[in-house]
Amino acid sequence: MILAEVLIERSANALNRPFTYLYPFKDKLTAGVRVVVSFANRDVVGYVIKVKEDKRNKDEYEKESGFVLNPIKSVLDKSPILNDEMLNLAKEVSNYYLSPLISVLQTMLPPSLKPRFSTLKAPKIHYEKYLSIVNESEKDLTAKQIELLRLIYKNGKVRKRDLKSPSIIKKLIELNRIREIEIEVPRLKIPEYKKDERKNLTADQKKAISTILNSKNKISLVEGVTGSGKTEVYLALSEEVIKKGRNVLMLVPEISLTSVMVSYYLRRFKGKVAILHSELTPAEKYDEYRRIARGEANIVVGARSAIFAPLKNIGLIILDEEHVESYKQDNVPTYHAREVAFMRAKTNNSMVVLGSATPLLETRIRAMRGIYNHIILPERINKQPLPKTTIVDMLKGYNLCRDSHMFSKVLYEKIKDRLEKKEQIILLINRRGFSTSIVCRECGEAIKCPTCGISLTYHRNDNMLKCHHCGHVMQYPKTCPNCDSKYLGKTGFGTERIEQEIIKLFPKARVLRLDSDVGRVRNNISRVIEKFRNQEADILIGTQMIAKGHDFPNVTLVGVVLADIGLSLPSFRNTEKAFTLITQAIGRSGRDKKAGEAIIQTYMPEHYAIQLASRQDYNAFFNAEMKIRKASQYPPYTYLISLTIKAKKEDLAQDIAYQIASDLTNKNYPDVKILGPSTPYIPYENEWYVREILIKYKKEDEIRKYIEKLRITLQNKPSVSILVNVDPFDF
Ligand code: ADP
Ligand code: ZN
Ligand code: ZN
Repeated sequence: MILAEVLIERSANALNRPFTYLYPFKDKLTAGVRVVVSFANRDVVGYVIKVKEDKRNKDEYEKESGFVLNPIKSVLDKSPILNDEMLNLAKEVSNYYLSPLISVLQTMLPPSLKPRFSTLKAPKIHYEKYLSIVNESEKDLTAKQIELLRLIYKNGKVRKRDLKSPSIIKKLIELNRIREIEIEVPRLKIPEYKKDERKNLTADQKKAISTILNSKNKISLVEGVTGSGKTEVYLALSEEVIKKGRNVLMLVPEISLTSVMVSYYLRRFKGKVAILHSELTPAEKYDEYRRIARGEANIVVGARSAIFAPLKNIGLIILDEEHVESYKQDNVPTYHAREVAFMRAKTNNSMVVLGSATPLLETRIRAMRGIYNHIILPERINKQPLPKTTIVDMLKGYNLCRDSHMFSKVLYEKIKDRLEKKEQIILLINRRGFSTSIVCRECGEAIKCPTCGISLTYHRNDNMLKCHHCGHVMQYPKTCPNCDSKYLGKTGFGTERIEQEIIKLFPKARVLRLDSDVGRVRNNISRVIEKFRNQEADILIGTQMIAKGHDFPNVTLVGVVLADIGLSLPSFRNTEKAFTLITQAIGRSGRDKKAGEAIIQTYMPEHYAIQLASRQDYNAFFNAEMKIRKASQYPPYTYLISLTIKAKKEDLAQDIAYQIASDLTNKNYPDVKILGPSTPYIPYENEWYVREILIKYKKEDEIRKYIEKLRITLQNKPSVSILVNVDPFDF
């Protein structure tokens, strides 16, 4: 009999081991297809990872193994939905990140192919009916019929719904002159661009390209100041790789159809580009995925999960803005696109290029040690100077604008000046919503989220309080939930508030706002960016979303409304993130012919991150921050694994976390340090209490085995859950 090992997913805890089922059908079964099986009396969709013959019959098998052998109910796919490379990659990712294999498969596949029950109702292939010639003979046909036959003949094939004569078509089909064919059409309509030729590269760009192409070392860091022409380097490298008959995977942190990177690639490589981004519908994703799997695209441009695109024969993988946090997934599987890129590069023998003006410290140190090629683009294109930057101390009352304490006099004056000159302005405020929190003036308590305990943010737009962590929404209360006082006040400010202030200060200015609230409506982000690029607005206000990779030629002023946000959050990565954000934001200014300027408003004008960001001095920042990381033993001086333990009862969470921590400590692994258990910044989530443990290590093997076992033990307990995060981005 034929047996199949099937991986299935149960809603709460993902199981990491396959179950054996009997294959009762005649057709040959291959690994890599989805099947419907019964599990715990319910029909579920599973993924076949292995097919094997067994000499015994069903009764013998059941007697010997002690298990009941259930049959597979149906097979969903005609051919495997993942090839061998992808299946092996899934195993490697699952091993490295200590994440269940099924969770990796779920991540790899587009929504409509995931081994989940709900996917059975997902979009199917979209066909259109076309007409083509069977026999072009015009014998015995009427003039009208001949006319249509000639039309189809001339065009090769014609879409049926473009023709208006159903009866003639029907007749011609009956006479066997034409026939109907179905052709798969992608639902994603990719914009048409005029083809664009390679620019005359600068000496620095040429050198970068030849170093990357000719080096024995396959991994390169391209460290180039903002506006130094990194994109042109990516494009030229891609061209070279494609010329050699190999394919390119281009990753960007966030992407929409109108991202600059997408339009650059579409212009340069017409028709060969597939796009995988978050604004695609499941149907569009499915089509793009299949187009890539069929080998119809040479280039895939996409965000994090595009690293799992079924592209074959990859010659080059690029991660633009490699420092950005969104390359790391913070739920299971907790993978980082860069690590997965290294895995795929090894199998495909391809090059990897990491690009950034402000690389992660981990990446930079590896480049300095020669583990990666270290390529530096030191100047902006056309030798444009970096923006002239002023730091304003907002604690000094005399610096403040008379009509709004959120703006300094300097920033106010500069905005006015740019509005008069018809140049554009970007204002960064890295917090969405109207105010940061609602605080009771009597008892001093802030209104907190009932599901995770952090302060709720007031959104004026819909007059609601919202949790920025779990999404909990509630009405603005009339009185304090703690003491019933009526005196509730708003403190702190976010994008909505800044938008309101700007409209008050500059009533004639055309203002746009970009944050994830705006992004909740599909395609809105693209629309806002496109509008601003077309200069249909003067001022763009936004969160970190506006700092990333955009190229707006007419922007000559960037204002960082409050640079301090984030600096006080409890994470070893805070200062690095703040430095990067400010540097990148300032870098949006003066990228074309006109020189740019930037104003940084802060309560901490002496802080090294703010000082060095204002000078765009990555090198000095790297040196300063590395000293701190060394003293406190954080990456890149050590590796991290974090464990998040959740339980329905607080005592239980504490007890289990304490047990794990002391057990790990008692093992006395060499070069391993255990921190915690600690109560995180967000202490409970949806009635689950949270504790965290941090493992710092230099060598991994023993620790990994321990965690793997731990995860399997804990996942069978319904009242407890554990999340393992290998290389957490923050802690
Ligand atoms: P980065 O990604 O390093 O911030 P970009 O690649 O966006 O910089 O380049 C900045 C600007 O310079 C873009 O408008 C780009 O079109 C232009 N540019 C890049 N390389 C060249 C070149 N060799 N000649 C002329 N313009 C260039
Ligand atoms: Zn109160
Ligand atoms: Zn919450």
